[in-house]
Amino acid sequence: MIPLRPAAADPTLVEDLRGAIREIRDFPIPGVGFKDITPVLASPALFGRALAALVERLRPTAPTHIAAIESRGFLVGAPVALALDAALAPIRKVGKLPFRTERIDYTLEYGAAALEVHADAWEPGARVLVIDDVLATGGTALAACALVERMGAEVAGCGFLLSLPFLGGEQRLGSHRVEALIRY
Ligand code: AMP
Repeated sequence: MIPLRPAAADPTLVEDLRGAIREIRDFPIPGVGFKDITPVLASPALFGRALAALVERLRPTAPTHIAAIESRGFLVGAPVALALDAALAPIRKVGKLPFRTERIDYTLEYGAAALEVHADAWEPGARVLVIDDVLATGGTALAACALVERMGAEVAGCGFLLSLPFLGGEQRLGSHRVEALIRY
C-alpha cells in the first residue's frame, strides 16, 4: 500500500485539478481540445491528492486486477493498482507485448485500431478495473472492456482522471460503472 492521503475531505480538489489541467487546442489534429495532464503529474501534492480521491472512488469496485491502457493510463493505473492491492496488467498497442497475447480490433471515429494484453494477464472470473487518464469517445475503454469479457473475466468498472461527457464515452460504456474525478 502506498501512502496516499485519504481524500474524504478535499473540497478544493476538483477546482485545483481544473486549474492545473491545460487545454491544448488543435492537438494532435485540428478540432481537438487536448487535455494535458502533465502539470498535474509535475505536482506530487496535486497528483497524490487526485490519486487518493480516485482510489477511494474505485475501492468499492473490489478489483483483483487493473487493466491500464497505453500510454497515459499507465501513469494512473500503476499507483491505483498498488493502492488497491490489485495485479497490474498493461493493455498495449499491437506488437509491444513480448509474451502470447489476446488482441481486439475496434473502430474509431476515423479508422481502425487494435489493442493487446498478455494472455495470462488475468484468469476467468477475475474482476478487472479498466484505467485511463481521459475518457473521450469511449472507443478505447469499450474495446478494453470487451477484451476483458472475451477472456472470461468481469469488468469491475472503469476509472479516469477526467471525462468529456459531450463526446459520448460514458453512454458508450453503457452498464459499466464509470468513475471520473472531473467532468468537463
Ligand atoms: P477515446 O476517444 O475515449 O477512445 O480516447 C482515446 C484515447 O485518447 C484515450 O486514451 C484518451 O485518454 C485519449 N484522448 C482522447 N481525447 C482526448 C483529449 N481531448 N484530451 C486528452 N486525451 C484524449
